[in-house]
Amino acid sequence: MQVVYHDVIIVGAGLAGLRAAVELAGKQDVAVLSKLHPLRSHSGAAQGGISAALGNAEKDSPEWHAYDTIKGSDYLADHYAVQVMCNDAPRAIIELEHLGVPFSRFNDGRIAQRPFGGHTRNFGEAPVRRTCYAADRTGHVCLHTLYEQSLRKSVSFYDEYQVLDLCRAEGFVNGVVAIELKTGRLVMFHARAVMFATGGYGKAWKTTSNAFANTGDGLGIALDNGIPLQDMEFVQFHPTGLYQLGILITEAARGEGGVLRNGKGERFMERYAPSIKDLAPRDIVSRSIYEELRDGRGAGSMKDHVLLDLTSLSREKIAEKLPEIESFAKIYLGIDPSDVPIPVLPTCHYAMGGIPTDVNGRVTLDAQGKEIPGFWAAGEVACVSVHGANRLGSNSLLDLIVFGRRAGKDINRFLDRVCLAPLPLATDSADRVRGMIESFMGRSAGETVASVRIDLQKVMMDRVSVFRDEQGLSDAVEKLAVLQERAAGIRVSDQSRSFNTELLEAIELQHMVNYSKVVALSALKRRESRGAHGRDDYPLRDDAAWLKHSLCFLEENGEVRHTEKPVDLSLASSRAEFVPKERTY
Ligand SMILES: Cc1cc2nc3c(=O)[nH]c(=O)nc-3n(C[C@H](O)[C@H](O)[C@H](O)COP(=O)(O)OP(=O)(O)OC[C@H]3O[C@@H](n4cnc5c(N)ncnc54)[C@H](O)[C@@H]3O)c2cc1C
Repeated sequence: MQVVYHDVIIVGAGLAGLRAAVELAGKQDVAVLSKLHPLRSHSGAAQGGISAALGNAEKDSPEWHAYDTIKGSDYLADHYAVQVMCNDAPRAIIELEHLGVPFSRFNDGRIAQRPFGGHTRNFGEAPVRRTCYAADRTGHVCLHTLYEQSLRKSVSFYDEYQVLDLCRAEGFVNGVVAIELKTGRLVMFHARAVMFATGGYGKAWKTTSNAFANTGDGLGIALDNGIPLQDMEFVQFHPTGLYQLGILITEAARGEGGVLRNGKGERFMERYAPSIKDLAPRDIVSRSIYEELRDGRGAGSMKDHVLLDLTSLSREKIAEKLPEIESFAKIYLGIDPSDVPIPVLPTCHYAMGGIPTDVNGRVTLDAQGKEIPGFWAAGEVACVSVHGANRLGSNSLLDLIVFGRRAGKDINRFLDRVCLAPLPLATDSADRVRGMIESFMGRSAGETVASVRIDLQKVMMDRVSVFRDEQGLSDAVEKLAVLQERAAGIRVSDQSRSFNTELLEAIELQHMVNYSKVVALSALKRRESRGAHGRDDYPLRDDAAWLKHSLCFLEENGEVRHTEKPVDLSLASSRAEFVPKERTY
């Protein structure tokens, strides 16, 4: 098998991976592997913006930003990590601008900022304009800029290589096994440092805003290697997905003045969040939408959705600030949002949980912060944790940029200090991967990938979405055990080597069933409602029992082992504002 060496292997060419690569380029020999062309990474789909207390539109401060992030997380985010992110945000934006990101501007030339859900001034007083943007194509311009910078700095790219496993030696991570999509051959990448930036996993749900590639491979590979996942029960449903499609309509539509209405035309968020209304955090808005539907106040003949009303915005404003949204509504629903409200429903959007890391991206294995040397993670695949039980809009792009850079810096420090030659590469993971591929392709009978995946997406959508309860979650855990077995027994009928997407999807499916089981089991264990985790049978938050992170391992027999980890509440000891309390908006 071919072996390729680079000092650093970064898996994932979204914003987190590219930001780390730009940091390391010129200092270390760095390569980025991606199963997609880098510019097809989901980061490029980010619409609404990136938060930072620049104070360009009105007075603002990183402390208010930290307060909103912690309150928005329903008090589950780690305080120090949030402080690191919010304090670094203004610098990170200026840096992006200097790298070439064409942000939208105010008339006086400064970077423009708009309101976004849950971002307020003066500890919750009123919405604040904190989110920087480039129309509604913010992720697109950031991704292009960082890709250009990576090319300029001669980062090596391996596009269309799908990583299938980690290589480990003497407790260190020292490489990955990947399949080259064009040829179907396996390649081992040998390195002194490996970083995962493989993004989110919304594809395990039926209705999602996520790209097809968001199958959570990094999470599945971590579980296979005895690495735990943290806070997986917290999965965000964005309130405004296009009805029946799930395609995202950015929160910026409400930031720019759009409002949600029920079937009676009422602006119902006034009842649920009297002070910030439609700009409440996403968990609250999504739950409010479902309560309207439950009470029979939905829109349309089926009363099964609500409406996002942009008709009070001028046509010029929509064209200037929300051009993508306008075209989505026209292309997918055949309506002009200047004239007609857009039918919407919540859509599975963002994973708060992931591979646990410290603020420097180092992957940690337990509540004491024990590290696994040689391995870093950043971006949506990681859980630092800055989003806790619910992420605020525009805080993810910030997370990618801040913690992608920090991971890059930390890898650089690590490599400068540890001057050792790379540890020899063990071949056991390559053997494991080869065995798995041969068994999928060698079978004469077995289910198809699609039939198992459809059932998985249905279980997760029906039982493990916005409303959850003991019975539904227990049922999901049982069904997922069966799905694990069914997924292991599928048959890949396509025997070709080049671009064998059936084989690649079969491998992705193994990851999907494994981490879905972790999501369902940690949701079953958490007998409270917090942020995006809403339990009908335990409707209140229970800080006495559950102000803690969950940390789950996958055992060799496929069972999930659930453990816990304390939340860092360090800011609460000095500031009353940061002490957990009931969330009202
Ligand atoms: C429609 C949409 C709009 C959004 N809008 C906003 C917004 O306005 N503001 C905001 O803050 N957040 C937004 N988000 C969230 C944010 O965009 C994501 O959380 C973020 O882009 C994730 O970035 P990432 O770098 O972690 O991974 P991604 O950008 O998802 O990239 C993942 C990378 O990993 C690679 N990869 C994955 N698996 C493998 C494998 N097995 N082998 C090799 N490569 C692999 C992929 O090829 C890809 O390059 C939005 C999300 C969506 C879906």
